[in-house]
Amino acid sequence: MQNFELLVIGSGPAGQRAAVQAAKLGRNVAIIERRSVVGGVSVHTGTIPSKTLREAVLYLTGWDQRGLYGRDYRLKTKLTIDDLTQRLNITLAHEIEVMQHQLRRNGVPVIEGTASFMDPHHVRVTRTDGGVEEYRAERFVVAVGSRPIRPPGIPFDDERILDSDGILRLQRLPRSLIVVGAGVIGVEYASIFSTMDIKVTLVDGRPTLLDFMDRELVEEFVHHLRENGVVLRLHETVASVERDGEDHVLTRLESGKRLRADVVLYAAGRIGCTYDLDLERAGLQTDDRRRIKVDERFQTTVPHIYAAGDVIGFPALASTSMEQGRLAACHAFGQDVCATPSHFPFGIYAVPEMSMVGMTEQQLTDRKVPYEIGVARLRETARGQIMGLQEGMLKMLFALEDRRVLGVHVIGEDATELIHIGQATLILGGTLDYFLENVFNYPTLAEAYKVAALDAWNRLSG
Ligand SMILES: Cc1cc2nc3c(=O)[nH]c(=O)nc-3n(C[C@H](O)[C@H](O)[C@H](O)COP(=O)(O)OP(=O)(O)OC[C@H]3O[C@@H](n4cnc5c(N)ncnc54)[C@H](O)[C@@H]3O)c2cc1C
Repeated sequence: MQNFELLVIGSGPAGQRAAVQAAKLGRNVAIIERRSVVGGVSVHTGTIPSKTLREAVLYLTGWDQRGLYGRDYRLKTKLTIDDLTQRLNITLAHEIEVMQHQLRRNGVPVIEGTASFMDPHHVRVTRTDGGVEEYRAERFVVAVGSRPIRPPGIPFDDERILDSDGILRLQRLPRSLIVVGAGVIGVEYASIFSTMDIKVTLVDGRPTLLDFMDRELVEEFVHHLRENGVVLRLHETVASVERDGEDHVLTRLESGKRLRADVVLYAAGRIGCTYDLDLERAGLQTDDRRRIKVDERFQTTVPHIYAAGDVIGFPALASTSMEQGRLAACHAFGQDVCATPSHFPFGIYAVPEMSMVGMTEQQLTDRKVPYEIGVARLRETARGQIMGLQEGMLKMLFALEDRRVLGVHVIGEDATELIHIGQATLILGGTLDYFLENVFNYPTLAEAYKVAALDAWNRLSG
């Protein structure tokens, strides 16, 4: 039986980084992956496909040029699913190639099959052809990710009633779409589809959207959704979903409303993919969402078994999963030098995009931390004017006590890129003065940082 110093289960962002880190430490490591291709949800059904789809939609609809050429501007008037999948296929093929190359270069073999624990040190791997192999490892990183929750009673059919995996397999673009669940995945898809002039209704049981984000940003985002024709049905619960003839789906809400659309996307949460693992044989348990509990070193209650990525829950992002995987491998081999980052950014790739790092006004108020804000509109920058931006805002929060940056919140063009300037300043303990005293490239959207800093300075001086 083959023995490894580390076996990583799952080849998504968490598993991959864990394996590469262990290889870089000179350890004998392999990945077990049940799909025939590496990459996990991030590459096959999550991050990369949804972001590629967004990019294709923004380009083909001419959305980002409408500020200059008018609301009716379209680069291509009649979009088809082929227009979108073409770009998707090219991007995915490239991403997979890069990952396979990285694993090969670092000498990490991939064992194909579904892993399940036999005991705390042994796993059985079952291949799709039925073949079974057994392996031993001194340590494990469980990085099996998550999958969409499919509530009982919702008749998913992979044609018109879909989850976020199925939406990528649409055979043609719908004329109308109901999105159930206004979390990050739901709002991203709702806004992307509405940009293609598809009639979108967004339903959620909560009265407000994206509660962890800055309220002003969310208000601006909701305004955009409505401008794009999205109907919001918040504080509403779905009572039933059923096919209505060949071409439609009928969604009934508990309030009595009846919504009819070509397609329903159910994006109401995710659950850990631990169901095949026989974790109890390794001495582990999961919570009610099949997630594994870990400590700050990503160690489970069984000390030689680590877990990272979506399977441990919040924040369940590709970005944080990669880092967790890397840190889990470092800790597993006694490398405590790898520090856990103090702040990570959130990126929401909706249309328009949003990003944040650090504290929100609400959090600071709850903690009784006195602060001042500085706000800039992206259209106030020369670059914003050149690009024809009508919208977008950057808001910074500074401590009254020592002018340190406490939080940065951006909505609009390049928000997920712009945020990193704020992130660096925040992590390095920078203050308002950094933005006041430094020269930025001109014309850039990053100049919004200076405008926001001047706004804060004015408020502090007044
Ligand atoms: C629609 C969508 C959009 C997203 N957008 C973003 C975004 O913009 N930015 C961002 O940072 N994050 C985004 N995410 C989240 C991101 O995709 C996940 O956080 C990330 O993929 C989690 O990585 P992971 O390594 O934990 O698991 P995964 O990527 O899920 O990989 C787990 C792997 O484990 C394998 N596996 C499972 N069980 C077994 C088993 N028993 N044996 C062997 N192999 C097994 C699976 O086949 C899979 O390949 C998005 C997610 C979705 C669904």
